[in-house]
Amino acid sequence: MTGVERTQVAIIGAGPAGLLLAHLLAADGIDAVVLEARSRAYVEQRVRAGVCEHPTVELLRSLGLADRLDREGLPHEGLSLRFDRADHRIDLHALTGKTITVYGQQELVKDLIAARLATGAGIEFEAADVALHDLATDSPRVTWTDVDGGRHELRCDAVAGCDGFHGVSRPSIPSDAITLHNHDYPFAWLGVLAKTPPSSHELIYARHARGFALHSMRSPEVTRLYLQVPPDETLDGWSDARIWDELATRLEVDGPFTLREGPVLEKGISPMRGFVAEPMRYGRLFLAGDAAHIVPPTGAKGMNLAMADVYRLAPALVALLRQGRAELADGYSERCLRRVWRAEHFSYFMTTMLHRAPDVDPFLDQLQLSQLRYVTGSTAAATGLAENYVGLPLD
Ligand SMILES: Cc1cc2nc3c(=O)[nH]c(=O)nc-3n(C[C@H](O)[C@H](O)[C@H](O)COP(=O)(O)OP(=O)(O)OC[C@H]3O[C@@H](n4cnc5c(N)ncnc54)[C@H](O)[C@@H]3O)c2cc1C
Repeated sequence: MTGVERTQVAIIGAGPAGLLLAHLLAADGIDAVVLEARSRAYVEQRVRAGVCEHPTVELLRSLGLADRLDREGLPHEGLSLRFDRADHRIDLHALTGKTITVYGQQELVKDLIAARLATGAGIEFEAADVALHDLATDSPRVTWTDVDGGRHELRCDAVAGCDGFHGVSRPSIPSDAITLHNHDYPFAWLGVLAKTPPSSHELIYARHARGFALHSMRSPEVTRLYLQVPPDETLDGWSDARIWDELATRLEVDGPFTLREGPVLEKGISPMRGFVAEPMRYGRLFLAGDAAHIVPPTGAKGMNLAMADVYRLAPALVALLRQGRAELADGYSERCLRRVWRAEHFSYFMTTMLHRAPDVDPFLDQLQLSQLRYVTGSTAAATGLAENYVGLPLD
């Protein structure tokens, strides 16, 4: 054992949840150690989400963490639902007074890491064999092996499990103390990152008889595109040429639109899953972000939910550790889960409205079209979509 260390909060995982929590706690003078299984280079290159809700952007600004996001992020005032070979614009700004900002998750992670390191606080990258102990007591412990093979033990007052869906935190909770809700959608997304300017300055969610397609972007030079594929699909049959052909077919529209092709930088297939762990707490372990819940990406909610969780967790930990007041910590899970279930439903709504289900029949097909016409034709229905999409208020 190299050494026994002490901190107030052990944060497991340096994704958006863990990193933002570290900043929120530091702003309140609470010490934290962040343990991350991967290298800095890996987490800074991992391409994932790209849509920041209005409350997420406001939160980052309030912490002085949005300078580059404000310079380089792409504010969007609307999005398009494309069906029946036509675009139907949802004017987010006119309907809600708010916008969303397209800014790659990996860029945000870079900013949050740089800001933490600039304060002199560290992040333990490449921490292996992370294990949580004594979680049901007021003095939990975390052990791990550092990059040089040294063993460490960290004693703390609370553990924040921000280590994503495949992390170690949630499985550390005894199975009789947690309920897991799971919903597997019958499709997956084949995602492509391409070095080509976006073909439209707004996101296009396309419903097509061959399946869903999404046109998105990460910057003025990089386009992000997705295709609905079967859940067991592999990349084997998907040459770049086939991907571009299929995108062109599903994004076809009457009117001026040309899909800009370019070199494919990255491609992958992600399953579509809804998952909620309840409660998001066990003793002194608090789960946040993907460690506790997963949404299908159609609603662009996963990263935003992760940030909303830690926005609630930070004051709960401050009250618990500084004043010995437990009310916020005791209510943490319930308050988060209200937002989580809203996001689960919104993601389900967007997913089922736009994807082609394997068991679709002409009746269901017409229901889907009717829903799309209603949501784009009624100001009341469009407002419901828009206010969920830009993000419901954090408080
Ligand atoms: C293809 C794709 C597209 C998406 N698009 C969107 C979108 O448009 N909008 C949106 O809001 N969300 C989107 N998401 C979801 C979003 O990326 C996640 O919800 C978000 O990353 C959650 O953040 P997190 O901090 O909870 O978890 P993560 O980002 O997963 O971070 C967890 C961290 O913990 C580390 N870790 C794991 N195990 C351990 C361990 N044992 N010890 C120490 N560290 C560990 C991991 O390496 C990781 O760095 C998308 C996801 C995917 C895959």
